[in-house]
Amino acid sequence: MFADWQKVTTMSRDEIRELQNAKLRFYVQHKLPFSPYYRDLFQRSGLSFKDIQTVDDLVKLPFTRKEDVAPTEDDRSRPRQFILQPDEKLIKKYAHPRELARLLAGKIARQDVHARLEWEYKPVHTHFTTGRTALPTAFTYSARDIELLKESARRLFDVAGATKDDRFINGFPYAPHLAFWLAYHAAMTMGLTSLHTGGGKTMGTEKIIRAIERMPATIATFIPGYAYHLMREAVKLGADFSALRFMIFGGERVSTGLREKTREMLEKLGAKEVNILATYAFTESKTAWIQCAENSGYHLYPDLECIELVDKKGTRVSEDEEGEIVYTSLDWRGSAVVRYRTGDVTKGITYGPCPSCGRTVPRLHPDIQRSSEFKEFNLTNVKGQLVNLNNFFPLLSGMKEIEEWQVELRKEGGEALGLDEIVVYVAPHTGQSFENVKQEVERRVRTEMDVTPIVEEKPLAELLQRMGMETELKEKRILDSRPR
Ligand SMILES: [Zn+2]
Repeated sequence: MFADWQKVTTMSRDEIRELQNAKLRFYVQHKLPFSPYYRDLFQRSGLSFKDIQTVDDLVKLPFTRKEDVAPTEDDRSRPRQFILQPDEKLIKKYAHPRELARLLAGKIARQDVHARLEWEYKPVHTHFTTGRTALPTAFTYSARDIELLKESARRLFDVAGATKDDRFINGFPYAPHLAFWLAYHAAMTMGLTSLHTGGGKTMGTEKIIRAIERMPATIATFIPGYAYHLMREAVKLGADFSALRFMIFGGERVSTGLREKTREMLEKLGAKEVNILATYAFTESKTAWIQCAENSGYHLYPDLECIELVDKKGTRVSEDEEGEIVYTSLDWRGSAVVRYRTGDVTKGITYGPCPSCGRTVPRLHPDIQRSSEFKEFNLTNVKGQLVNLNNFFPLLSGMKEIEEWQVELRKEGGEALGLDEIVVYVAPHTGQSFENVKQEVERRVRTEMDVTPIVEEKPLAELLQRMGMETELKEKRILDSRPR
């Protein structure tokens, strides 16, 4: 059912291209027609499914955007349009002749044909995107997709360098989100001794710290902001994390500064040689990609997806140019998107053997400007200035002078018609004067984001509580307190 991963990781560029062309052709002609959305889109665009023969032909196809997939108050069923839903008529029209012959030859009992189709297509598992103001979008997996999820999870741990002797702590919040379930399946598929904690909200930070110590865990996965909090608490408790070999981050961008802060904290816990590995994913990709070493780039699975980069106008750019990541599924059932604009911008895709591990799969440049995390107030107008709030993450999380931070958008003087203002709450690092921190935050935000924030000091305990570090699935870094 899947290409042999070891083989995929040694393919030449031409072989990868050939494999992708074949997979894309099969997928678009024989699977995508089961998607109500894409049947309609092809018809509206005057395209035939046969028009897409190669990866280069994808440019003929209009983009799919987040707005196309997300439900609205008026139409909550929109995500369902993206689920592959074959019926007898559609199967007869679009299934590959070989598959059709097998299904209809009478060699398989009728109930087995049904079971086979259910296994392939019936949604049995769901993840949701984490919209804050937008309604959450459901993205479904069939039983076949779960096999693919396991396979890709195994690949992810393979690229990271995990072995079956590793002991694993899953620190992602327990939720219908990709991070928790991918980590769960990775551990199950590899047969690792593991504990799926559900995160601080579910199990409590101290218990997770003690579990890491007692197992002792060699691999841990966390959302970076929570990991930092957990390590700070672990240092207070005098915990020993010396067995740890891998810290795998998901859910947020990991800046160089945050990586350094994490490393310092790990050293205080006795963990000296830890690979801090970042992953990249979005709900619609249905899996995640990881770097094999810091800054090696995210190792893609070229038999499962095709990634293009496009400029602001949507024109495809060459692989060494900066562009927005556009994703096309090559193998998923359940919910599936093609030519999906993520809004995330990266600096290129590299082909050829990875200098760190030698795998030849394409690698996404590690510097990804994410727009998907806070899409709905991604660009906010503050005093006539458009501000990308996502930039606060690398900027503030990476500052050594800061222990914790939170950004609040509010109206000047609390008036509904007042001007918008940005407040940065900070808990300075031990030994740092607030006055210095304030000046440094103002300077950096002004330089990099072109706005001047109001900087206010908060005691660490109060700030942690405001963020819901122990009580929310994911801490609240950006609060929008403006009346609607
Ligand atoms: Zn590599």
